[in-house]
Amino acid sequence: MMGSTHFLFGTTAGLGVAAWQGWPAWQTGVAVVLSSAVAGGRFSPDLDQSWFWRKVDKVAPDESLGHGGPMRHRGLTHWWGLPAILAAALPFLPEEPRWLMVALLAGWCSHLVGDVVFGARSRNRGPGIPLAPWWWHKGIGLDTGGTAETVTRSYVLPVVICWQVLSLLGVGDPVNEFVLDLFR
Ligand SMILES: [Zn+2]
Repeated sequence: MMGSTHFLFGTTAGLGVAAWQGWPAWQTGVAVVLSSAVAGGRFSPDLDQSWFWRKVDKVAPDESLGHGGPMRHRGLTHWWGLPAILAAALPFLPEEPRWLMVALLAGWCSHLVGDVVFGARSRNRGPGIPLAPWWWHKGIGLDTGGTAETVTRSYVLPVVICWQVLSLLGVGDPVNEFVLDLFR
């Protein structure tokens, strides 16, 4: 999945948890900033493509651990187990950092879900994300930047985000009624 699609998907994930948790507007705003920030780019699982990470990977002997090493692209940073461990620790955190962690987890996980759907097989690995810490990749394997992703980025996600914002503002019901009327 491309960075801009990840960013929109992270936004929709942040809005989703905010609605689910019933957070007020300011908290929703912070959640969306955090979730989209870790959904794409250098603070997301794709930090394994950053200049610094690659430099370290070149000198680190992580390849000796097998399967290309945990520092490979779509390696350890893309493993579902890391957010799962963090999610399991959530109940033990005090309220204040917990909601921030929930927002970060939403964005981080949205990246992984996006990469399960988009991202063809590559040299030495299958499509998707690793089921084991950095190997055994599984995913649907649609082309990154292909037609399906373009439609998702340009039409589906913007419409979903608009609908989420309208719902959070409390003006979603007339819109929902209007859409349902179209199908009646
Ligand atoms: Zn990725």
